[in-house]
Amino acid sequence: MQSNWQHNTRNTLKGANSCNDFFQSDQFKDRHFPIKIPLEFANLIDKNNPDDPLLKQVIPFRSAQNQAEFSLSPLGDEDNSPVAGLIHKYPNRVLLITSRVCAIHCQYCFRQNFDYSGHDAMSNWLAIEDYIRSHQSINEVILSGGDPLSLSDEKLAQLIRNIENIEHIKILRVHSRSMVVTPSRITDKLVKLLTKTALKVVLVTHINHANEVSEVFIQNIGNFTNITLLNQSVLLKGVNDDLGTLERLSLKLFDIGILPYYLHMLDKVKGAEHFLISDERAIQLHQDLKSSLSGYLVPKLVRDENLKSKTWI
Ligand code: SF4
Repeated sequence: MQSNWQHNTRNTLKGANSCNDFFQSDQFKDRHFPIKIPLEFANLIDKNNPDDPLLKQVIPFRSAQNQAEFSLSPLGDEDNSPVAGLIHKYPNRVLLITSRVCAIHCQYCFRQNFDYSGHDAMSNWLAIEDYIRSHQSINEVILSGGDPLSLSDEKLAQLIRNIENIEHIKILRVHSRSMVVTPSRITDKLVKLLTKTALKVVLVTHINHANEVSEVFIQNIGNFTNITLLNQSVLLKGVNDDLGTLERLSLKLFDIGILPYYLHMLDKVKGAEHFLISDERAIQLHQDLKSSLSGYLVPKLVRDENLKSKTWI
């Protein structure tokens, strides 16, 4: 297993010029959400295909459509943050903002305008611990970001120790896109950390297309024995909005030990208008998927609302 992930994360394309050079293209333009593409991901892109589904996720695009329902913060995370660094929407679980950094900048990201200042779970841990201890209904902590795996293994270890010390927390969930876009991040230390904790661990990968799944990822993700592995995807126009692509993704995930969990409708964040598909089309695709795959391979089609709930479509 590779252990040079910090070197690899520095090996990242940033800004339009370096991307246009790398892809021999003129498609990249600098917009408000800076371009960031790790080479491990960039190398999976077919440079001769301007419609490559991985490429489309990282190219900033100024939409001609100016749809009023698209906003800077579609989920209103800030409104559900009783303590800086913690988001509490559902009774049994809280989400911690552990890092503002991501290995990649996905141009559909609903947090692309999120104001991370002050939202650092590590530096605000005492207040977060007090909050969790005073809410006994919470049994699960979700590490989110940015990407929690942009933290060093040492910082993650400290955070996990802190969480383990709260008796009523039984489940640790980690949401990370780093694992697939920089699979060298899955180090021996990280595997040990997540497989040895007393908490039940659920790892949620974020994979939108089967082409993102590299040989290194397959090899490294296989080291997470005794951990529940789930995947969430976002339904994106021009990336994965056809039956064959969604079928291949589910089958690929199952093949490597990951269960398809959620298929998210796009969160309506400004700058991502071009990724939107209609509810009718999404529901039809999901129906078709149910007809063509076994039930356990069909992710739930969901939409996060600016409410304390998730809607199942
Ligand atoms: S990795 Fe996740 S949080 Fe980071 S830009 Fe992509 S979708 Fe957003």
